[in-house]
Amino acid sequence: MFCATDGCFQTSRLIRSFKKGKRLANMRAMSISLPMCSVDFMDTTLSMEEQAIADHIQDLKKQLGDDLLILGHHYQRDSIVMHADFLGDSFMLSQKAADSSAKYIVFCGVHFMAESADILTSDEQSVILPNMRAGCSMADMATLSEVEVAWADLLSESGLSDPINRKHPEHPAEDGESYLVPVTYMNSSADLKDFVGRHGGVVCTSSNAQGVLNWAFERAGPGGAVLFFPDQHLGRNTGRAMGISEEVMPTWTPGIGAMGEIKGSRIILWHGFCSVHKRFTPQQIHDFRSQYPDGVVVVHPECPKETVELADTNGSTQYIRNYVNDLPAGSNVAIGTEINMVARLAREHPDKHIECLDDEICPCSTMYMIHPAYLMDVLERLVNGEIPNQVIVPDEVQEGSLLALNRMLAILK
Ligand code: SF4
Repeated sequence: MFCATDGCFQTSRLIRSFKKGKRLANMRAMSISLPMCSVDFMDTTLSMEEQAIADHIQDLKKQLGDDLLILGHHYQRDSIVMHADFLGDSFMLSQKAADSSAKYIVFCGVHFMAESADILTSDEQSVILPNMRAGCSMADMATLSEVEVAWADLLSESGLSDPINRKHPEHPAEDGESYLVPVTYMNSSADLKDFVGRHGGVVCTSSNAQGVLNWAFERAGPGGAVLFFPDQHLGRNTGRAMGISEEVMPTWTPGIGAMGEIKGSRIILWHGFCSVHKRFTPQQIHDFRSQYPDGVVVVHPECPKETVELADTNGSTQYIRNYVNDLPAGSNVAIGTEINMVARLAREHPDKHIECLDDEICPCSTMYMIHPAYLMDVLERLVNGEIPNQVIVPDEVQEGSLLALNRMLAILK
């Protein structure tokens, strides 16, 4: 069924047009609001209307053949995932984009992911986001101008050097050198990735944050530090897992400044957070364990540290999938991440009891903006020779952002 919340999307107009056999109209000028939803995420049956759209998408896919690659993030709804050539986390999907030679890469995810795919693909390839409004509220919590102001303040307050002046920023710091190295989470805009690349830094995802931080610490030197943005929770949880004390992980809020001592710090945490993952609380874990004393709890590291600390384990979406796969039949498990992924895991493992840690959770509202009607629309336009909703990273930020992304990809090789 279409979610009740889809009624406030422009999709209702698209669906009406589709039913009348009309080619889909331009849908970029629209307003979207997403109230609390009441969707049964376990129900994957398609209405006749939804089935007709799904069939049409499959037909369009066939027409586009090898020219088309559809990438789907784990947080997408099932009626999108069913059309994806690859389903994965942002790291895996960025690798798939980098390895692909398809002419059109339709990214069913959010804007920063499509930007990264555009950076990693050739000029002859086009990256398309089915709904241009699908952003990420966490990524919006750090802008280039805010980071530039913070960077200048932090260099002066910490007494550390800017790696931008290093001849070989790829090399570990020499004896006696101490740098401030920027690390941005994948969930950030391309101009921030460019800033990071130019300043000797690197991109990370939740699946490689520890390896990336180790790389950055080597470049910072024993007396140096890392500026980690935009997600404070991923930075803090990863730092704690590496044995770094919170006393040397101050938080930085634009317009306010530091909470904690900058001089002598190891990781300076930007104030950002994910509005979906911050909803998972220690109380929910206590409630689940009181019902299932033998149950296990796995959460995403974008959750607050109190929640991560109390969970049995934490990791990226891919880690969570693997963890659940490996649990024996009969296990009781609560998962602290986006509901579409949790519901999919529950359906894939009918021999295990799987529930979302927050029983009132909504989907990520921006991931949910990729509705099948939008996917159908962009595919129709491609078949008709248009290139709709293309995400193009400007030339001036390509070089630095590619550097920062390639550093990340090299760390894992
Ligand atoms: S789940 Fe959180 S971090 Fe991921 S896209 Fe949604 S708002 Fe952004």
